[in-house]
Amino acid sequence: FKTKAAAAQPLTNADELIDSVETFIFDCDGVIWKGDKLIDGVPQTLDMLRSRGKRLVFVTNNSTKSRKQYGKKFETLGLDVSEEEIFASSFAAAAYLKSVDFPKDKKVYVVGEDGILKELELAGFQYLGGPEDGGKKIELKPGFLMEHDKDIGAVVVGFDRYFNYYKVQYGTLCIRENPGCLFIATNRDAVTHLTDAQEWAGGGSMVGAFVGSTQREPLVVGKPSTFMMDYVANKFGILKSQICMVGDRLDTDILFGQNGGCKTLLVLSGVTSLSMLQSPSNSIQPDFYTNKISDFLSLKAA
Ligand code: PLP
Ligand code: CA
Repeated sequence: FKTKAAAAQPLTNADELIDSVETFIFDCDGVIWKGDKLIDGVPQTLDMLRSRGKRLVFVTNNSTKSRKQYGKKFETLGLDVSEEEIFASSFAAAAYLKSVDFPKDKKVYVVGEDGILKELELAGFQYLGGPEDGGKKIELKPGFLMEHDKDIGAVVVGFDRYFNYYKVQYGTLCIRENPGCLFIATNRDAVTHLTDAQEWAGGGSMVGAFVGSTQREPLVVGKPSTFMMDYVANKFGILKSQICMVGDRLDTDILFGQNGGCKTLLVLSGVTSLSMLQSPSNSIQPDFYTNKISDFLSLKAA
């Protein structure tokens, strides 16, 4: 028996919400930007929150860039955000391996893009795979046996536009033939918005290939898992009840906030519409919803 979550309330008094927390965690795509375009009013909203002493943290499930590369993206968009405030799922994969003392003499097999490689390198881990394996083909001659590096102790899977059968087979061998091999997913987003013309298969599609072949479930380090929330809370010494998670997606962002025991605000500037939020088939209800974060500048108590 599950009690139905209380329906989300439209945000009417932003000041009250702002005063009730010390930290805002912002999802990126759909909240701060859409693709490469800044969403209206974001710089002024972030400035206002900083001037009121709020800590700002930015979390993205998009593993294709490292936090340094995201730092450049924020700068290009004219936003004053430091690398230390950015937590991408690429960074989370490296941080997770550090947290479990993954041995430096072992290697990580990467199914993903440059962001994951950069973060692993920065953390001092050895890796194989990545975009480099994107051009590899398997020639199935009779008796052909694919070898794999026995020093691989973890397979990290994220969004990968160079995904192919070679990588699935290689990573599957690592996981299946070494019961101690970690299987880590940066995120499991079903779809993503590479262009605004349609939905594109997301990181969940690459992860799903490995779930199918290994019959194992991955450890997810991105949203909605609690790893990044715990990491951020520990890093800055903040109570999760003092955090408001702001996102555009129910099954990643809002669930991430709820799993952490934070306040949650859904913005309708990304992938979720009001009718999706209010659909009887949706069971994830944030505390509040509003159109976009710059509503913070205009929504005052009546
Ligand atoms: N994964 C990929 C490949 C993406 O392109 C995006 C958004 O553009 C996401 C995940 C979701 O990112 P975010 O968590 O910032 O909404
Ligand atoms: Ca988003």
